[in-house]
Amino acid sequence: MYQTIMDYIETHQESLIENVKKLVSIDSTNPGVFEKEAAAELQTQLRAAGISFEIYEPFEKRVSVLARMDASQSQGGLLFNGHLDVVPTGDLSQWESDPFKPEIRNGRLYGRGSTDMKGGVAAFAFAMKAVKECGAVLKKPVYLHAVADEECGGRAGTVHLMENHRIPSVDMAVTGESSTFKGEMALVRTCAGIAAIVIRSHGKSAHASKPYEGNNAVLNMARVMLAIQDSFKVPESSVDPLLPAPTFAVGTQIKGGLKVNIIPEYCEAMMDLRTNPGMTKDGVEAQLREIIQKVREEHPEVNAEAECTMWDNAALLDEDSFAVQKGKEAIRRAVGYEPECKMRSGATDARFLNDLVPCLVAYGPGDALIGNIHGSNESVGIRDLVNWAKAYANLILGVCGDGDANE
Ligand SMILES: [Zn+2]
Repeated sequence: MYQTIMDYIETHQESLIENVKKLVSIDSTNPGVFEKEAAAELQTQLRAAGISFEIYEPFEKRVSVLARMDASQSQGGLLFNGHLDVVPTGDLSQWESDPFKPEIRNGRLYGRGSTDMKGGVAAFAFAMKAVKECGAVLKKPVYLHAVADEECGGRAGTVHLMENHRIPSVDMAVTGESSTFKGEMALVRTCAGIAAIVIRSHGKSAHASKPYEGNNAVLNMARVMLAIQDSFKVPESSVDPLLPAPTFAVGTQIKGGLKVNIIPEYCEAMMDLRTNPGMTKDGVEAQLREIIQKVREEHPEVNAEAECTMWDNAALLDEDSFAVQKGKEAIRRAVGYEPECKMRSGATDARFLNDLVPCLVAYGPGDALIGNIHGSNESVGIRDLVNWAKAYANLILGVCGDGDANE
C-alpha cells in the first residue's frame, strides 16, 4: 500500500502543485486581509477530495479549517497542523515576480507563503486525498487543522482551538513548517520558549529643582535592572544537544519620565527571555521578586515589581520518542535515506500543542536555509513538495493504518 500511494502522488503531482499555486495566489496577510479567502480555497480542495471538514471562526475573518478522516477507532490518531496566514510581502521592488502570482522557475515555486506554509498545508490535504483514493484501511482518525494567526502569536488560531478544547487527543501531531535543509529532508523536535517580562518602577513626582521632594522612578529602575543583570540565573547548559542554552536580555525597551524638569514618578522596562523546557513562569517571577527585595534592603525608596506578560513554552521531544521515530520512518520510506533531527530557529505552533500532544516542531516542505522564509522571493522546491506529500501519506499509514490490511 505504501508503494501504491507513493506512485499515486508521483503521477498526480501536477494537481498538488496546482493546489499550492491556488492557495499562494490568495493574499492572507496577517495582520491585514487575514485567512478567510484562503480558507475558502482549501475548503474547495477538501470538498473535491471528498474529505469532511468544519469551519472555526472565533473572530470575523479569522477562519481555521478543521478536516478529518474517520477510522474504525475514534481514539488516538494523527494531527496535521498548518497555518493559512502569511507575513507581509515587504518591499515589492525586491521581488522578481508578484508575490501573489505564483511562478515556477528552475524547479522552484515562488510566491508569498509557498514555503511558510501553504505548500505544507496543500501537501497535508493531498496526502489525505491520496490515502483515500488508494483505498488504504485506517484504524485511527487523521485530522488536519489549517489554522489562522500563526504569524501573530496563534491567539486566533491554534491557541483558541486549545482553549476551547478542539485539539483531539491524538498519538502524535506535526506542524508543516519547513524542515528541509539544502535539499535534505529532516525533522525538528525542539524549540526554545519565549518570555517577555515587564518591570514597573513607581516613584513620586516633584519639581526637578527640588529632587529631594520626589522619588525618581527611572533611577530606581536603573538599580533594579543592573541587579537583575548581575544576579538573575538561567541554567548554563541546555537539557538537550539540539536546544540552545537559555538567554536573557534586560532592558530591551524602556519608558519613563515626562519632561526634563520633572522628577519621574513612573518607569517601565522590558526583558526578553529565551527558555528551556525546565524553566517555569512561576520560577522566573519568584527569582525576580527575590532580586528586587534585595535591592530594597539597601534602597528602601525602590518600589518595583516584575510581571511575566508572555510565556510560550519550550518544546522538546526525545530522539527515541514515538513521534520522532514515526516521523523518521515516514521520510525514510519516501526518499530512502535516514533523516536527521536538526536545529531550526523560530517558534512554531508546536510550542502550544506540545502541552497536550507530542508534536514535531517542524516537519514539512520548504528549505529552512534557501527558501527565504519571511523574505522576498520566498520559494519552495517542487521535488521537495512531492517528497513531503509522500512522507505525510506514509505517516498516516504508519500512525493510523491497519498494518496487515495495508500490506
Ligand atoms: Zn510558518
